[in-house]
Amino acid sequence: MLKIYIISSLSDNYVYLLRNDEKKITSVIDPGEADPVIEFLNKKKWHLNEIINTHHHNDHIGGNDKLLEVYKSKLIAPSYNKNHISNVDIYVSENENLDIAGVFTEVIHTPGHTLGHVCFYMPEEKSLFSGDTLFYLGCGRVFEGTMDQMWTSLLKLRCLPDDTAVYCGHEYTLSNMKFAQYFDTNNALLNKVSLEIKNKREKGLPTVPFNLGVEKKINPFLRADDDNFLKSVSLGGNNATETFCKIRLKKDSF
Ligand code: ZN
Ligand code: FE
Repeated sequence: MLKIYIISSLSDNYVYLLRNDEKKITSVIDPGEADPVIEFLNKKKWHLNEIINTHHHNDHIGGNDKLLEVYKSKLIAPSYNKNHISNVDIYVSENENLDIAGVFTEVIHTPGHTLGHVCFYMPEEKSLFSGDTLFYLGCGRVFEGTMDQMWTSLLKLRCLPDDTAVYCGHEYTLSNMKFAQYFDTNNALLNKVSLEIKNKREKGLPTVPFNLGVEKKINPFLRADDDNFLKSVSLGGNNATETFCKIRLKKDSF
């Protein structure tokens, strides 16, 4: 069983430190900066075996170089980003399997936010590292891909089991929650979850990880093909992609 530690970084990023005590392997996912990671590892007296990147944005890879210099770790990154991320040892792409921190992991290619974006799913740990594709009650902005690609990527994540714990790249939950509530006024589950979220943020606690099964019922971006939901928010569209696009654009200017 893996231990997953959450390290806050930059203004609202989360870096995930994975520790396999049995195999004595330590890995880090999306180190936007190196110093908080080094500080944490020093306290634990752990070496850093692996660095994993979900995509090439600087707030997710900014700490790579310094960590590589200090620990000579293995760097794992999306193959699509060959020109954006340097010193990569292992490139990964859609449907590949690999061990991360000694644990079986499936790579899910989720283009949209960036074209090369990948998520990492660990079935035995029931954990998904979703980078900037799926956020708690939200999703990443569509920068490089098309709306259709982003929607298709979110559908891939929606297929994962309900009991999956999702670890996303940013603490955007409170603002995502405000949008979801404004949009979806009569959702009892959303209202209940919103109270939990507010409580956590008032105490300065992270809202991650979150449960994928619940998310499927309350995240507007996962519900662009749910007719009941669309009726209740008076939103149409000729197909799910079009509807998804409407929700994404609404959120962009919210
Ligand atoms: Zn990003
Ligand atoms: Fe980011």
